[in-house]
Amino acid sequence: MSFSAELKNCALPPHHTQDTLGAAFTELRALLGPENVEIVSTASLDDKSYYDPPKTHDPFHILGQDELVASAVLRPGSTEDVQAIVKLANKHRLPIWPTSIGRNFGYGGAAPRVRGSAVVDLGARMNKVLDLNEPNAFALIEPGVTFLGLYEEIQRRGMKLWVDSPDLGGGSVLGNTLDRGVGYTPYGDHFGTHCGMEVVLPNGEVVRTGMGALPDKNQPTGSANTWQLFPYGFGPFHDGIFTQSNYGIVTKMGVWLMPDPGGYQAFMISFQKDEDLHPAIEIIRPLRIAGILQNTPSIRSATLDLAVGGPRKDYSLTGKPLTSAEIDNAVAKSTTKIGRWSFYGALYGPEAVRDVFWAAIKGAFSKIPGATFHFPSDVPPEKSVLHIREGTLRGLPTFTELEWTNFVPNGSAFFFSPISPVSGDHADRQYKLAKDRCDEFGFDYIGTFTVGMRELHHIVCLVFDRTNEEEKKRAYKMLNLMVQDCADAGYGEYRTHLALMDQIAGTYNWNDNALMKLNETLKDALDPNGIMAPGKSGVWPQAYREVKKRVVSGTSKI
Ligand code: ADP
Repeated sequence: MSFSAELKNCALPPHHTQDTLGAAFTELRALLGPENVEIVSTASLDDKSYYDPPKTHDPFHILGQDELVASAVLRPGSTEDVQAIVKLANKHRLPIWPTSIGRNFGYGGAAPRVRGSAVVDLGARMNKVLDLNEPNAFALIEPGVTFLGLYEEIQRRGMKLWVDSPDLGGGSVLGNTLDRGVGYTPYGDHFGTHCGMEVVLPNGEVVRTGMGALPDKNQPTGSANTWQLFPYGFGPFHDGIFTQSNYGIVTKMGVWLMPDPGGYQAFMISFQKDEDLHPAIEIIRPLRIAGILQNTPSIRSATLDLAVGGPRKDYSLTGKPLTSAEIDNAVAKSTTKIGRWSFYGALYGPEAVRDVFWAAIKGAFSKIPGATFHFPSDVPPEKSVLHIREGTLRGLPTFTELEWTNFVPNGSAFFFSPISPVSGDHADRQYKLAKDRCDEFGFDYIGTFTVGMRELHHIVCLVFDRTNEEEKKRAYKMLNLMVQDCADAGYGEYRTHLALMDQIAGTYNWNDNALMKLNETLKDALDPNGIMAPGKSGVWPQAYREVKKRVVSGTSKI
């Protein structure tokens, strides 16, 4: 296909014509090689699958399929390539959007916020484990290292180290950390367990954070040998500003790994009644803060576990969201021993240590009438979430949880994720708020509460049919209302899909939007041309603030 034919169906970013975009791509092809600059046709977008994720757009599109779409996919091979891309982007005022693997499913995948941005696919060629250190239990990785890839490399080298994986193990360790994702071992806070970054700034300069700023020519990295050991270095600590942000492209990151604890036991506690959520959460809080619950546990609605086991039509033929009676019926029939809520946790350490923790945990939860206690050995493996969690809670990257997206035909996921205190009243309020909106708009409430040290991540797992335009519009309207419902009740989201970024950023508006003013001040200082991921997390550079109104959620075609 000729170059001009390639450009014809390409999404034009703001401020560009086909000619100006073509000039940018010509220089990028000369820099990276033509094979590493793929021009995207909006006429042939393919949603592909989790196993082969598209880098061009959001496969779980809640807006139109071709709204949040790239103009090109760029594949750098080194930090120097990334620097050169950034410099060309400045020269041509080309918006770029970094992605590591692009499996950020339910939050937008690899798709850019601004239609027509060039996606920088860092994972394609920058995917090496640069260092793996068993005695000090850390890794230094490039963006394309997946949880599964890191796990396999550790196994290959026979090291007694664990990875902490989220529910699905195919995403990148680095991308998930930058989006402040969580996993389920004692190292579940991914940002909290990273150590040291290398970042290409929007002007093309490269910085190393923490001890990485101290040169040491005797080390293979050229930085001090404490880069992955001590996160803070000297002076202002910047790592946080490179997460959920548009202030740089991270090209290397250190990650702490958990030493094999020498023993492990996953468990499930099943609660029979919907109302048991309240007392369960009240019991969880002191146990978690005291460290008796050693990992990041979760308490999941029956609908989530049923959805992993099969499509909705296996439980009801009405074609409508499951009723409470249908859920009770499905739970009663299930061989997996789940309840209306099921709590998944694990014990870590030698048997004697585990026994002490288990006695405390079992004793505490036994106060809830009807609670039942299970180890994987008591539950048949077929369709059993406990068996999947048995792997996840010891850091084994798996893909099985993807099944719940098949709950409805052409199932697509959208995560809505407000934060609340760990209290029964708040969990009830969160649940009611989400469930009432789901009932009103005709969706199943599917959810899980992931327990951090002192807060609940309530993850509402909305599943919708991406081929049904009416259903998508309905879902999006519901989500807009839920953001406001939550903000009115004092809850804010910890992370979001692209389509809600502006609205959610707008809710964090204490003291006349002081936080956004700071974000914009930083943005304009670091990125005066506004080329780096404009609009990410609702932060728009000066050059886009006038067009912002036209690229806000739902009307991104301009
Ligand atoms: P995953 O690797 O889990 O598939 P993504 O690659 O989709 O995750 O990235 C998750 C989020 O982090 C996205 O918002 C993306 O823009 C951002 N991101 C990913 N990699 C980088 C990077 N190397 N530098 C800056 N931001 C990144």
